[in-house]
Amino acid sequence: MECPRCGNKDPEWFYPGSKGLYCRKCIKFSRILLYGETEIPKDAPDVPDAQYELSFELTKKQAETAGKILDCTKSGKSVLVNAVCGAGKTELVYPVIKYQLESGKKVGFAISRRQVVLQIAKRLSKDFPALKVIPVCEGFTDETEGDLIICTTHQLYRYTGRFDTLILDEPDAFPFKGNEVLQGIAERACRGNIIYLTATPDAWLRKKGSEKNAETVYLNERPGRNPLAVPKVYYLPGMLMPAAVYLYLRKSLRNRRRAILFFPTVKETERCAKVFGKLYRMDSITSHTKDKDRVIKDFAEGRIRYLCASSILERGVTFSAIDVAVFRSDHPVFDYASLVQMTGRVGRDPAHPEGTGIFFCAKRSEEVDKCISVIRKANEDAYGAGNN
Ligand SMILES: [Zn+2]
Repeated sequence: MECPRCGNKDPEWFYPGSKGLYCRKCIKFSRILLYGETEIPKDAPDVPDAQYELSFELTKKQAETAGKILDCTKSGKSVLVNAVCGAGKTELVYPVIKYQLESGKKVGFAISRRQVVLQIAKRLSKDFPALKVIPVCEGFTDETEGDLIICTTHQLYRYTGRFDTLILDEPDAFPFKGNEVLQGIAERACRGNIIYLTATPDAWLRKKGSEKNAETVYLNERPGRNPLAVPKVYYLPGMLMPAAVYLYLRKSLRNRRRAILFFPTVKETERCAKVFGKLYRMDSITSHTKDKDRVIKDFAEGRIRYLCASSILERGVTFSAIDVAVFRSDHPVFDYASLVQMTGRVGRDPAHPEGTGIFFCAKRSEEVDKCISVIRKANEDAYGAGNN
């Protein structure tokens, strides 16, 4: 016996209730019975108009990559898209969305973080003007049916067996990463092919990819053809970190720059904003911040010049013309992927390709070294040696 929703096979986790059988592994997602009364809503019978408009033209490399993803999808094959930060991963799947929806197929787009669900849903409903694009995440669950579902991976339990193509954006990010219940639910939400989008594939994803016989496609070039910022590393004793923050801010101000300052812990993030917030237009964002949307908007629109952040902001967000500094980058919470992601915030807007990444740490760390070599390699593959 296997749970159709999360794939649990361990009989200890099945529980016979008064009305039927429950799976305790995924019961917190939904109390719906596994067998018996489960009712799958019918998909809308008419084929939607999935014509899309892009505000810019895809580069040759992007178009090529998008073509490969479409070809795989047409032959029912899963795809692992390994694209550097800022390569425009989302646009790469537009042709797939159009093709599948217009063939009467169902497409889902799932992401770990709620913030990013709302951002992407907004973008897709603008770019696909005739489609009913529905974001489904915490706070947005009244409407769960539409032409195109954009949801958190937590919400996929609603769609068991529903998607012909499931686009899984950044499956190497928390909380999806390492969570086998969420992973099982995602797999079972899809009856066709899965498209994994990532800049930093981890071991699980590579394994999954080979299990599913997925084709790996690479995109190392950004639309502005600007190489990824290779972080500069400064070593200094931990007790000098506050001084490093101060000097960094002074220099940044002199150069008329804006920046995100990453810290390994919530405490350090908040402390920095408290100490320097009076001198500089600065705010902080951590998992404890109540009005995250407001803080992100303030930074995006320039009302805040410096943003102190925990790793909550490492992915998915795009700001124009910023620098990035990571303090205590040798701290164990930062693995190579999170370091690549944080540095990847630099130069994402093709109109402002400039920007620097700096790591401050007390000692040499393997993750920092790996981050730098991965970035160098991607730059070399895209633009040839000598671009670092
Ligand atoms: Zn289950």
